[in-house]
Amino acid sequence: MTHHVAKLVFWGVRGSTPTLERDTWRYGGNTPCLELTAPDGTRFILDCGTGMRMLGNRWTRANGGNTIEAHILVTHYHWDHIQGIPFFNPFFQSQNRFHFYSFQSKYLGPDSLRQVLEAQLASPYFPVDVNMMTAGREFHEITGGDKWAVNGTQISCAWLNHPQGCLGYRLDTAGGSVVYATDNEPGVPENDLNLRQLAQGADVLIYDAQYSPEQLASERKGWGHSSWLEGVKIARDAKVRNLVLFHHDPDSVDKVVDGFLSAARQEFPATWAATEGMSITMSERGVNVEMRETRSGQRRRLRFTAIVTGQSEDGKKFEEKATVRDISLQGAYLCLKNRPKLQSEVRVVIEAAADPAASSMLSLRGTVVHFDAGREKMQNGVGVVFIDDADPARPHD
Ligand SMILES: [Zn+2]
Ligand SMILES: [Zn+2]
Repeated sequence: MTHHVAKLVFWGVRGSTPTLERDTWRYGGNTPCLELTAPDGTRFILDCGTGMRMLGNRWTRANGGNTIEAHILVTHYHWDHIQGIPFFNPFFQSQNRFHFYSFQSKYLGPDSLRQVLEAQLASPYFPVDVNMMTAGREFHEITGGDKWAVNGTQISCAWLNHPQGCLGYRLDTAGGSVVYATDNEPGVPENDLNLRQLAQGADVLIYDAQYSPEQLASERKGWGHSSWLEGVKIARDAKVRNLVLFHHDPDSVDKVVDGFLSAARQEFPATWAATEGMSITMSERGVNVEMRETRSGQRRRLRFTAIVTGQSEDGKKFEEKATVRDISLQGAYLCLKNRPKLQSEVRVVIEAAADPAASSMLSLRGTVVHFDAGREKMQNGVGVVFIDDADPARPHD
């Protein structure tokens, strides 16, 4: 059997507006942009938020002047989903070719996305004129309920409930299926039903989880967004395999997102919180979530033991005497036999004995942000970011 692998990469996961605050760095501050590579190499981009700049730079570097061709699916025209367009390098290289898909906005009429592009790259809003965008561009107008195919990938879309309209997309590749449904407020029966049909049996459902269930029921009702709890309900109803909480609120610091994720995992264990740099590979062998190594700052290379307690991939609790390979005030790199679940909580207890007569324990709480299987001597490498316990900003579930 041929091994078909599809890969999804998250370049921007933040809703509404980019965030630069330090306490939003772990999940990331760029607005929505996802890259999906089908098993046959066909490239898709889902939304054009600020994360698109990094994707463009990556492609330009990797491509060495060869033609880049991609299919760009835009959910709607709110700033956070289009503001990366002027900063996407490959648009300004004439050998490249792009196919855009979006709906006709009743505010803009025919050729809505072309108009959006021309308005974005125009005086006095941007120094570069749209004519500098020399890559080939083709615009396809689509609407909820449409189905079409791009090479081997089947695409379908459905209307979501969001101010000025929004489309949810499903892409069925030979490696697996992804449903991208962001910017949606539940409560319109027809839309809710359509979304469940769109998501039916998907390997991965990426869903708007901007607010807490409490906010969604009160002060954020009518704002066009959703919560982790709605995501869980859809994931269950549609029997999806993995749920990814997405479109984090700009005012949600990392700890708030941590709280949403842990609450969602109680109800639906195969839940992840979208993180910049996270990737998901899908194949006949299943779905695998990975996160890139992002720890910065000075690390101290060491080798000492610590007692690590946490939760393994299958949900079981473990306790193990592990090796700490390096440590900083922000995090540590551990070697252990267990395989802790990505984005789960671990406790690292270190015996701090400056004076052997008066030993004391240093107990640190962290979250698993990176995993390297079989790093050394049958042990796994695990990157952990420490969570500051002093701040009680954890949300109520
Ligand atoms: Zn949005
Ligand atoms: Zn929106």
